[in-house]
Amino acid sequence: MSDRTPKFDPAEIEAERQAAWAERGDFEAPRPEPGQARVYVKPSSPFTSGNLHMGHVRDYSIGDAYARFRRGRGDAVLFGFGFDAFGLPAELAAIERQVPPAEWVERSGEQMLGQMRRLGYSFDYDRVFYSSDEGQYKWSQWLFLTLLEAGLIYREDATVDWCDTCNTTLATIQVEDGRCWRCHNEVRLIRRPTWFLRITPYLEENDRNTERLENWDELALATQRYILGRSEGVELDLTADGGRELTVFSPHRDALGLATFVLLSPRHPEIDAWIGDAARDELEQLRSGGWERSARDARSVPVIDTGASLAGPAGAELPVFVSPLVDARFGPTAALGIPAVDEADAEIARRMERAPDPVEVGEGEEPPAAPPVAGAGEAVHYRANDFSISRQRSWGTPIPIVHCEEHGPVPVPEADLPVVLPRDILPTGEGNPLAERADFVDVACPVCGAPAKRETDTLDCHFDALFLWVPAAVPPEARAEQMFTHHDLREWLPAERLVAGGDSGGFVFDQRIVTKALRDIGPFAFMVEGEPFAGCLFHEMVIADGRKMSKHLGNVVDPDELVAKFGADTVRFAILRAAGPAKTLNWSDGEVKFASRFLRNLWTYSQDRFVALEEHRHDPEAAADTEHLRDRLRKWCEAGLEKITEDTAELQMHQAIRNVTRLFERIGQYEKRVIQRRGQLDRADAEAQVAALVLLARTLVPFAPHTAEALLLASGRVDPETLGEWPERAEIPVAFEDPTPAGT
Ligand SMILES: [Zn+2]
Ligand SMILES: [Zn+2]
Repeated sequence: MSDRTPKFDPAEIEAERQAAWAERGDFEAPRPEPGQARVYVKPSSPFTSGNLHMGHVRDYSIGDAYARFRRGRGDAVLFGFGFDAFGLPAELAAIERQVPPAEWVERSGEQMLGQMRRLGYSFDYDRVFYSSDEGQYKWSQWLFLTLLEAGLIYREDATVDWCDTCNTTLATIQVEDGRCWRCHNEVRLIRRPTWFLRITPYLEENDRNTERLENWDELALATQRYILGRSEGVELDLTADGGRELTVFSPHRDALGLATFVLLSPRHPEIDAWIGDAARDELEQLRSGGWERSARDARSVPVIDTGASLAGPAGAELPVFVSPLVDARFGPTAALGIPAVDEADAEIARRMERAPDPVEVGEGEEPPAAPPVAGAGEAVHYRANDFSISRQRSWGTPIPIVHCEEHGPVPVPEADLPVVLPRDILPTGEGNPLAERADFVDVACPVCGAPAKRETDTLDCHFDALFLWVPAAVPPEARAEQMFTHHDLREWLPAERLVAGGDSGGFVFDQRIVTKALRDIGPFAFMVEGEPFAGCLFHEMVIADGRKMSKHLGNVVDPDELVAKFGADTVRFAILRAAGPAKTLNWSDGEVKFASRFLRNLWTYSQDRFVALEEHRHDPEAAADTEHLRDRLRKWCEAGLEKITEDTAELQMHQAIRNVTRLFERIGQYEKRVIQRRGQLDRADAEAQVAALVLLARTLVPFAPHTAEALLLASGRVDPETLGEWPERAEIPVAFEDPTPAGT
């Protein structure tokens, strides 16, 4: 390093670049020019937890690199997001600190936005929103009323998952292995009046489209298939003694004749007709939580004998049992139990007295030949099903419904939206404080004007999330009136790319459903496919020491500490380089040390060459002798640029970065070879090298934008207005024209 080399001081460099970006409004979503590609990059919407974690840093570093890359290629880019601010996480944090959730959310959001700015993410910060803002949840209420009118929301006294700890019902998707997604305690089933979102009308289309989605990575597609839970098979009608029929499904089309029982879902629409008096109590017990929800496999899942029987497809009498095992496999339907070919069915048969003991089929042996069965038709079943959207919690969107003694549940007229949530509510964790507020609860019936009660359940934040991808596409000042009608929606939707964590599959699945519903209802008619995301990249999580990060284990990596120590670019570069998006990232200090060393070396090396460039003399003979080396450098640059471009376009940032570091090594090799051959660099050699370093800095912009831009400025050969431009070609001068006029 020479004395003239500017010091590598990430904090200073980063502050300077961030000030320049803010001043120029570089990241405001532009009005797209005719013919310009519109690229809406949708990052995940964080809960207002108060702190970014490394998973966020991974998410936003990928999204930001892609957004910068597309801007650099001349595309119109919208990179915006909002906070998922309602729901349990915020409410529980507020309870812990004894502040109103509204206050906690605001404080946390500000804190997180500060962290994002410090990391240099190129969001359009003017478009940030909170799902808990009145102007935002007004549209959750509008969506509720719209879907209600379309018959896609209904209220039913239903069996729902209930968490005793959180004192609330849960959506199926919030129950993992029989445990609450939030507190991890076991949940049980209860019955209560609940609002449901009907998704079944769109399952088939989601299924069909999933096979056609381009620019969706395998991880993202796999989550969609998993949530859908498609089973192909056949269906046939069986008859009971009294002539009553039941349609039963089986995925084992060649073994129907071996069926020995029928298994009915407790949520089957005709369940009451099949359950005998003796078993009714048992069913009630099952529905109200009389079994451990963790007992999900065939050995421990509850099974009730209805006492009824059906004539089987091969003539045998088939006893009818009830078990939620059906739901977990095929949804709320009826299925044939075929122990000879199905291990779960064999378990049930062993447990149930009325089922014949399964014929044991040894390892590698063929099951017995099945008698032929007529009358079976092709059928497809989906495990995915309607889910409850109401919660007995106070920190959520009020459901725009009034309960009148005479008129029952009455929708609040659209003109009266929003139904405002009191901001000063101080939840304690017990029950629902909203229900205890007379100023909220007591209201006149919209139909008859008689005293009535507001619905005190609120919408689950999963419902708000159904359209969390929409507001960023609408200018903030237009959102109050035109959230679903603004003409910009046509510019930006569907989003070109969603970048989200691998655990977002459920959100995305339901967002796809609602897009189709709103297409059919009208507002999203322009999205013909009914798909909100043209492309989707899911990334796995960030762990440490091979384990999930947790306070309890003391292995939480704090992004703030890393940024303070190494700078934002180093952290971004390290997290991007460490692993491809489909792999779990096991964080190590080695990554951040490598990144820090690389950026520092690149900085010093490049600055030294920029400063020394003018000092190199030109000798035509010497230059001719190293022309083949310059030509090889040009080829390396061309090949490197091509690969980096390709990888970045496919959001494979870890590969792109590996090619960036490789190109840097090659530039170093080039210099060594020239020196080996001639002892020093000719001006022609130095010019080619500086051009290569400038190219390298340009390709670094998406991954380490501050350092890269500062280097481009330092090179003195880049127009400051074009710092973010992506190079379409590697322009490395092989021949050299001496700029010094002859005779001087
Ligand atoms: Zn819970
Ligand atoms: Zn009324």
